[in-house]
Amino acid sequence: MSRSGAVANSLKSIEHFIDGKFQGGSSKETFETINPATGKVHGLVSLGTADDIDRAVAAARRAFEKGPWPRLSMRERCDVLRKIGALILERREEFAIAESTDAGKPINESFDGDIPRSAFNFQFFADFAATYVEETFTSSASERHIAVREPLGVCGLITPWNLPLYLATWKIAPALAMGNTIVLKPAEWTPYTAYLLAEVMQQAGLPPGVFNIVQGFGAGGAGEALTRHSDVRSISFTGETSTGRAIMQAASATLKKLSFELGGKGANIIFADADLDDAIPTAVRAAFRNQGQICLAGSRLFVERKVYDQVVEKIVALVQRIKVGDPLSKETEMGALISREHMEKVQSYLAIGKSEGKLLCGGERLNELGDGNFLSPSVFTDLKIQSRFLQEEIFGPALPILPFDSEEEAIELANATPYGLSASVWSKDIDRLERASAKIRAGMIWINTWFARDLRTPFGGQKSSGMGREGGRYSLEFFSEAKTISYKYKI
Ligand code: NAP
Repeated sequence: MSRSGAVANSLKSIEHFIDGKFQGGSSKETFETINPATGKVHGLVSLGTADDIDRAVAAARRAFEKGPWPRLSMRERCDVLRKIGALILERREEFAIAESTDAGKPINESFDGDIPRSAFNFQFFADFAATYVEETFTSSASERHIAVREPLGVCGLITPWNLPLYLATWKIAPALAMGNTIVLKPAEWTPYTAYLLAEVMQQAGLPPGVFNIVQGFGAGGAGEALTRHSDVRSISFTGETSTGRAIMQAASATLKKLSFELGGKGANIIFADADLDDAIPTAVRAAFRNQGQICLAGSRLFVERKVYDQVVEKIVALVQRIKVGDPLSKETEMGALISREHMEKVQSYLAIGKSEGKLLCGGERLNELGDGNFLSPSVFTDLKIQSRFLQEEIFGPALPILPFDSEEEAIELANATPYGLSASVWSKDIDRLERASAKIRAGMIWINTWFARDLRTPFGGQKSSGMGREGGRYSLEFFSEAKTISYKYKI
């Protein structure tokens, strides 16, 4: 509520999308959406309430029970998905500018990464869903059992601000492919591209009520109301681990199906025999892409002592060359952090790093860039693994580097965190890579790479990093219910 604002005509008005129509909330209240690179308000967003969630869920339920969407053939639904993907690509530049303005991320990342990937999420699931194979169990010549998948009904989707459209579409596409209807609550900081997506849904001819958006806040607001709603059959959530816990509690009364993609504290392990020319620049990208605000970031770097000094020196040299600045400039490599609050949180970790370890570069607020949330990318050494700096998710441009002396120690360090989302291991020794992959407790292990993805593979975390998996058939199965139909034949 701290960002509630009076309506100003010059600002973009970002409304809810309910039952196929853009509309304000029942309370008529709005909140400001702020450009993280300038600190200036660039839009007024309808502030969703429990009442708006009720209306959106009712529309989604009507569309599910009486509308055509769940009754279309898979092929017909997938044709619509392809159209949505194509329409996003047609408006790629507009989407990219909206994403970078809302989230502070460099335009190159939005234009070449987030937006085409969002379009591809629809194209991928359109192709993949058509290949989904249901199972048949033949018990005898006279008895057969078929396991079919049915849509769940109204699916609640709650998404974060770091990859706003990319992660929302990663849930929307499989949910739609399986014949569900949706209520989406985007992150309060990044409402803009979800709004544009609703325009695309209208253009693509999606029937009213199939896709709904309620903008607003999480705890105590629209997000929480969605998790408590008795007509919502599932919640697919991406965000912080602590929010996942709150959602699990709130959803327990109505026994919803839950999928959680939560925080990370990825280990990046470089052995002395690694291809350092590849490992070092990749380690920099893994730590600082999207201002370090990526769940999959390589946010803890462990380097074998034999090459430690050399690697640290080269990393610092590369980090000092990162161009921080206006997210809308094509020259920019690192933009602004999402909000003043988040920047202050990151700065509180920088203070820990400075007092407990050694700062090698960066870690300063870049006042010369104006009122935006700009920090210079930082590298720290001499920290202990028990430090909060290495235990908690900072979600900012700060990389701690620690040395190790043996394979066992490297794996122990990698596992010494409550998180278990992803890890990278760099070496030329295939046996060592195999052992490390087996022993590191994380949902995704990259061998001599980072961020490589095939959308058919399971994506998700172990330990405090999540519950369930997304991707390929894992998403299609989450967004559907299995039903067994058994046949007895008289032969
Ligand atoms: P967040 O604070 O947990 O918020 C995520 C979403 O949940 C937002 O839409 C938020 O609304 C909503 N929310 C907050 N409290 C809620 C509640 N009690 N009930 C229902 N909804 C609630 O996370 P974030 O700061 O946006 O995103 C950063 C986090 O996401 C990091 O921890 C990152 O690692 C994680 N992440 C994980 C993955 C993955 O795949 N594992 C991918 C990307 C990001 P508001 O915006 O109003 O708070």
